[in-house]
Amino acid sequence: MTLITLQNYIDGNYCAPTGGQYLEGFNPATGEVFSQVPDSREADVSLAVQAAKKALPAWKAMPADDRFRILNAIAEGIEANLTEFAEAESMDQGKPVWLAKTEMQRAAQNFRFYATAAIQFASESHQTDTRAINYTLRQPVGIVGCISPWNLPLYLFSWKIAPALAAGNCVVAKPSEFTPYTAYLLCRICNEAGLPAGVLNVVHGLGASCGQAIVDHPEIKAISFTGGTATGKHIASVAAPMFKKLSLELGGKNPNIIFDDADLEEAVKTTVRSSFLNQGEICLCGSRVFIHTRMYEAFKAMLLEQVAKMQVGDPADDKTRVGAIVSKPHFEKVLSYIELAKAEGGRVLCGGTAVKPPGFENGWFIAPTIIEGLSQSCRTNMEEIFGPVITIMPFETEEEVLGMANDTAYGLACTIWTTDLKRAHRMAEAIQSGIVWVNCWLLRDLRTPFGGVKQSGVGREGGWEAMRFFTEPKNVCIAY
Ligand code: NAD
Repeated sequence: MTLITLQNYIDGNYCAPTGGQYLEGFNPATGEVFSQVPDSREADVSLAVQAAKKALPAWKAMPADDRFRILNAIAEGIEANLTEFAEAESMDQGKPVWLAKTEMQRAAQNFRFYATAAIQFASESHQTDTRAINYTLRQPVGIVGCISPWNLPLYLFSWKIAPALAAGNCVVAKPSEFTPYTAYLLCRICNEAGLPAGVLNVVHGLGASCGQAIVDHPEIKAISFTGGTATGKHIASVAAPMFKKLSLELGGKNPNIIFDDADLEEAVKTTVRSSFLNQGEICLCGSRVFIHTRMYEAFKAMLLEQVAKMQVGDPADDKTRVGAIVSKPHFEKVLSYIELAKAEGGRVLCGGTAVKPPGFENGWFIAPTIIEGLSQSCRTNMEEIFGPVITIMPFETEEEVLGMANDTAYGLACTIWTTDLKRAHRMAEAIQSGIVWVNCWLLRDLRTPFGGVKQSGVGREGGWEAMRFFTEPKNVCIAY
């Protein structure tokens, strides 16, 4: 098989890493190496920063209308090449192609949304006792670093880059070393869309070398990071003494709470998705499912029945519901958590093992796994597994389930199933998380704030929140 060689994208050109070193890129469904990924270092990041610095004055000064046109053209470019992008994403990440297609559409939508933000973002003005007027200039931060993870590769990459560019910044970006393919393809689209050279620079490589060089670089003034909590903590410790602006979107261990007045059918159907979509590798997945005792047995039986029908295997097959786990180390990590759950006294109700689908015997597949009989305080329920593994637990009262739901270091998202409006409001207020869904999951509107509390992160993305992050407010006070 001919290997696909990915390149960095610096100053509008594809280029090899200066050190000439490459990493292996794996197809998780086959376990085979199919690409070479630049193993970029500090020197490559420096070149990217130089290119960004050169491009910044003109990009900052470009009329918003022109930025709008270019970002829109990038959205159209992704849509025009949707199948190529979706197949590349699936080959890199392991997810079903049909799912990758929906994510590519959303990546295009991110560019379209922030294209309009470029022309609509407004600032405030305040009059002071009729003697002075204050207005706020919203100026681009300058050169910003965008670092993204492997689970929703292009979607999360574009979720950062689009607002950064819309606000007039130049970007040095690094996708995950496990899933760099669509970020590489995006650079071609950016050239075709007329994005000026140096405005976006993409460097590929490992977190500890390439990512670290982005965080360390003194001329990069803000870091927008999505990834694990431990990495986020490290980045914060490096960036804080340099007074960099930081947006950290980190891990989750989200509760999914089903009250006894919930619409059982709808709650089960959505729980199948919120537990196992993208192999459970979505930061918003509900991995701790709390079910009211009166509903418990009925819910469990229906859930098991539906999960048994989920096809695991060939990502190209439209009927596949669970694809491959992103990498061998992550596959082994998820399996080790299933062993831990058993050691902690958990009963595996379904799944619990690796799967070898016909034709994909060397891939990294795990059957959707449901575990019961664990206490909320065990490690399985405290640590992020980030795979197709959930635990189900009964509860009696609202107070009890609220205590269990909040008994976690994380605070990203929560789902509540109830038809009692008052209870929905009470729970939404009391739950410690950045996002609450009531009787739904993953209904996303790009205008709404996105992010977590506690160890799930600092700051918010989405809508004007991202535009505020990628701009510096400067107050001007004029007396008259
Ligand atoms: P990770 O932290 O290992 O890596 C994320 C990115 O950071 C990668 O590009 C990696 O190369 C880079 N990186 C690693 N070390 C670095 C360093 N020292 N300096 C700079 N960059 C570095 O995370 P992952 O395994 O790729 O992603 C999974 C995690 O992401 C999970 O914890 C998941 O919950 C989280 N996540 C959070 C959200 C959210 O919005 N809150 C969304 C998706 C994923």
